[in-house]
Amino acid sequence: MRAIALHADVLVATSALLSVNCVVVRGGLGADADETFVIDSPVLPGELDALATLLEQARFPAPSGLLATHGDWDHLLARLAFPGVALGCAQSTAARLRASPGAAQRELRAFDEDLLIERDRPLALGSVQALPVPGRCAVGERELELHPASGHTGDGMSVLVGWARVLVAGDYLSALELPTLGDGGSLEAYLATLEHLRALAQRAEHVVPGHGPVLDAERAQAILQEDRSYLLALRDLGAAAELPAGRRNAAQRRLHLQNVTQLES
Ligand SMILES: [Zn+2]
Repeated sequence: MRAIALHADVLVATSALLSVNCVVVRGGLGADADETFVIDSPVLPGELDALATLLEQARFPAPSGLLATHGDWDHLLARLAFPGVALGCAQSTAARLRASPGAAQRELRAFDEDLLIERDRPLALGSVQALPVPGRCAVGERELELHPASGHTGDGMSVLVGWARVLVAGDYLSALELPTLGDGGSLEAYLATLEHLRALAQRAEHVVPGHGPVLDAERAQAILQEDRSYLLALRDLGAAAELPAGRRNAAQRRLHLQNVTQLES
């Protein structure tokens, strides 16, 4: 796991698997106001175990809240690191989790079985807190802005850490992975979310995608443009759509064909 500081109050840890980003946010410095939230999660057991140490070394207090940008299993694992801490997510995500109880656990188990990963305990999401989105969420003496972000899936949110100028996008704006239409995903909703992210990214110095490298503002706009062009081509040309440069390997071509199938269904 690689960890870097984007701001005095913001760390990002990138999992060695799937390049999933976990973002840690501290809301202020006062002894009473000091509070830390963890957004999304790394994947490997050792990485999850290392999160508490990472926070200690950075002199961030232990987390008082966990957030998930959306309900895909690979973003829900922070409860394995901090089992006593409540998980919050967008109302849309809470509804999705309620509608498919155990789905995240089943997908995690299948993934772990494929890669022979063993874990000390099963994933228990606890009583998930549904947050109104759009909305705000207090962290210590600061506030996170929560913005709707559907399209990749039918649920989800992006989180703007305004004072630190960091945008946590969710599964959008990845330099490694094509836009994909997953559980409840919609091409039109995806395009609308990209427009919303375009405006939000203008208020950020760093954009953290769900998977892949942290982007500066200029690179984020470039990826956004590539993603938009790809989705428009996917809509109009289907399988013949050209893939963005840098995202044309065999795995990305498979994702592209999944998108084509999803649109035809
Ligand atoms: Zn993901």
